Amino acid sequence: MARIEKLLIANRGEIALRIHRACHEMGIRTVAVHSTADADAMHVRLADEAICIGPPPAGESYLNIPNIISAAEVSGADAIHPGYGFLSENAKFAEIVELHNILFVGPKPEHIRIMGDKVEAKRTAGKLGLPLVPGSDGAITDVDEAKKLAAEIGYPVLIKAASGGGGRGMKVVPGEDQLETLMRQAGSEAKAAFGDATVYMEKYLGNPRHIEFQVFGDGNGNAIHLGERDCSLQRRHQKVLEEAPSPVISAEERERMGGIVAGAMADMGYRGAGTIEFLWEKGEFYFIEMNTRLQVEHPVTEAITGLDLVREQIRIAEGEPLSVAQKDVEFRGHAIECRINAEDPRTFTPSPGKVTHFHQPGGMNVRVDSGLYAGYRIPPYYDSMIAKLIVYGRTRKGALMRLRRALDEFVVEGIKTTIPLHQALLDNPEFQQGAYTIKWLEEWLAGEEEEEAE
Ligand code: ADP
Repeated sequence: MARIEKLLIANRGEIALRIHRACHEMGIRTVAVHSTADADAMHVRLADEAICIGPPPAGESYLNIPNIISAAEVSGADAIHPGYGFLSENAKFAEIVELHNILFVGPKPEHIRIMGDKVEAKRTAGKLGLPLVPGSDGAITDVDEAKKLAAEIGYPVLIKAASGGGGRGMKVVPGEDQLETLMRQAGSEAKAAFGDATVYMEKYLGNPRHIEFQVFGDGNGNAIHLGERDCSLQRRHQKVLEEAPSPVISAEERERMGGIVAGAMADMGYRGAGTIEFLWEKGEFYFIEMNTRLQVEHPVTEAITGLDLVREQIRIAEGEPLSVAQKDVEFRGHAIECRINAEDPRTFTPSPGKVTHFHQPGGMNVRVDSGLYAGYRIPPYYDSMIAKLIVYGRTRKGALMRLRRALDEFVVEGIKTTIPLHQALLDNPEFQQGAYTIKWLEEWLAGEEEEEAE
């Protein structure tokens, strides 16, 4: 077992701060890395050491592997945590880190690689016994075969890019006459966007929910699940609000499906934190992808299980066993997370700039993960998420009431934020009842706009 004494955080913003906090609670010193645009960022201020790794564009700083490795060597860090986004799902980076005898707080590079290729990921998931969306067995190349398969699956079908991500590179095919054109289009768009023209076919589910399971493996064939999160509230395939547990999953279903995913991870010898994403429709789960990293929405799982997921990741990287057995994982209460973005709440145009006033809500069972402070200037170069508000209640209804109170207390001035969007959402009876699918939020937003126009 290797004790980590100093850990380099290869990220920025709230997640860098989140990792820093877990490290300090574990007695681990931290090294922040930052671009020149982030010299005044909170993650830089709080870390024990900070090293500038390049100019503002992420490609030259937060994605700059040689500079990050140099920063680790210069500071004598014995581990690197990649957070989410940036280099977190880059198998090559994980390999390079390990080649330098630095612990990578994340999965084995080969597992990152498999899950990063969606065709390979689906094949692996199928072999491991996870339920799949009906579709092609691997890539599709031949139009006649594609037509035959689509007829078997039933229209509409979806053409997806093997290297796709962020909801890009997908085409819904309504009927056979459009199949050939859309298949070619998808291929050339995928080639242009991801440098890989490989596409595959799936049944297009009409109105599913997005439900994902949190898993942890020790890398030696032991794995547990920490229940599900419902992330159906999305805009342009970006999650807006997440909750745990899902309003539609029973305890029996959680135990059954959780058992299947944990079993699959154990068989794989998976190491560290992972998320298995499913679409869920009419009581059935369909695997869509696996994320081999910590997720933005991990705090809702922390709230209902009482476990610190970053601490768990670090322990596993040190070679420790999982800190809890499945039978000791208890799910209690209900948690909701709002992603608060520096955006106009109606048009969603980014709104970077100087934060003039900042007051975050507090009180019982309210958590804010954010690097904001009064006087901070939000740089325009990165993701627009500036804060996560997480509330916990014994029941979903209690969590909703607390969320309303906490949003009312939240003050961010000088820039526009999506706080009003979350407040409006809370007033909606369908949301209050948990009766939503992945299409619901966009339809609701379109309806709001129409109402205003009248
Ligand atoms: P990405 O890696 O680009 O995020 P995913 O496979 O995770 O791609 O899919 C992103 C989103 O696209 C899902 O959350 C869902 O909203 C939609 N989607 C993906 N596959 C299907 C499908 N077979 N039927 C309907 N919607 C789908």
